[in-house]
Amino acid sequence: MVQAKRDAAAAGVGSAGAVASEAGASQEPIREPIVVNGTDPSALTVEAVEAQKAGGVNVWVGSGVGEVDGFRDFMAKNSNAIVPVSSVADIRDAHSGGRLAHVSQWQSADQLVLQGSYPMPAISALADYHALGLRICGIAYNLANAFGGGCLDPQIGLTHNGRQLVQEIHELKIVLDVGGHTGEQTSLEALAMSSGVPVVCTHTNCRGLVDNPRNTSDRLMEAIAETGGVIGVTAFNDFHARTSADRDVFRTPQVELEKHLDHYDYLKKLVGVDHIGLAPDFMMGSTGEWPNDRLNPNGSVSSRAPEAYSRGTDLYVKGFENITELPNIPRGLAQRGWSPEEIHKVMGGNWLRVYRQVWGA
Ligand SMILES: [Zn+2]
Repeated sequence: MVQAKRDAAAAGVGSAGAVASEAGASQEPIREPIVVNGTDPSALTVEAVEAQKAGGVNVWVGSGVGEVDGFRDFMAKNSNAIVPVSSVADIRDAHSGGRLAHVSQWQSADQLVLQGSYPMPAISALADYHALGLRICGIAYNLANAFGGGCLDPQIGLTHNGRQLVQEIHELKIVLDVGGHTGEQTSLEALAMSSGVPVVCTHTNCRGLVDNPRNTSDRLMEAIAETGGVIGVTAFNDFHARTSADRDVFRTPQVELEKHLDHYDYLKKLVGVDHIGLAPDFMMGSTGEWPNDRLNPNGSVSSRAPEAYSRGTDLYVKGFENITELPNIPRGLAQRGWSPEEIHKVMGGNWLRVYRQVWGA
């Protein structure tokens, strides 16, 4: 158990010095486990970088190009500790050099809506963001947008603009993110356009365990797994306990870590261990409302529907309330009988497989 935890979670920090001599050997296959934090929209700060490293993270997937002011400046200023990456070869080089790799992700394509002129989103601008380093893109954030339905509008399908967006995402070799924030019908239609390429759900939880509208259904998770994709598991408390019946409950009580680990076991049974990844969705230094306040000029937070989200500050599950507690996940999975190899896949191997297949390098 202890060995599994060490292998899986502490690989980056613990082994960084030992592998430094391999820097530059980017054609070599990755032998040691690389830990991928598959979605974490924490604010880019020195403290957040230190927290990722303390948790054993090697690859931080989060907000970046097109969303974070001063992204490039921050990266330049802290280049000894963190580096923006746009390929798996970059990830490998960052790891060899003992630096945290940062992947830019959009949870929806709303940036293209904001940048367009009604009723046309600026889909062609996606190529510019890809050139800047954007590597993962979702469709809609809880509410419907010009491209399709959010999870609060599950019956809305992909629009004409949405079909163009999905096509562009694939042409640019960006990882397509469905389910989670994006509605079910839109996600299924996007998957139908995605033959031969893995599609992911970057961060969600199992609807089969908790009937929260932000969680993803069995059939959608199965369809994602059939593409060879990965489903990222969040540590966001509401998605472990809050259901539509709780819409008048101000704040859902915090659940124990075991309830979180149940989602990994559930997915293992449903789709298999090759399709599960980490995606705790921490928002260290960000407001709990981000990015809703930006998308609603009147200051409302309407995409946080009470049937899906508690009021007040966001809670995470006990034992995984911030990224420094990451070692509790491999430890807990090992206690549930997961093998070291299975744990390595969940800690990062599965995300890296998809990134390599989609990005192509
Ligand atoms: Zn999110």
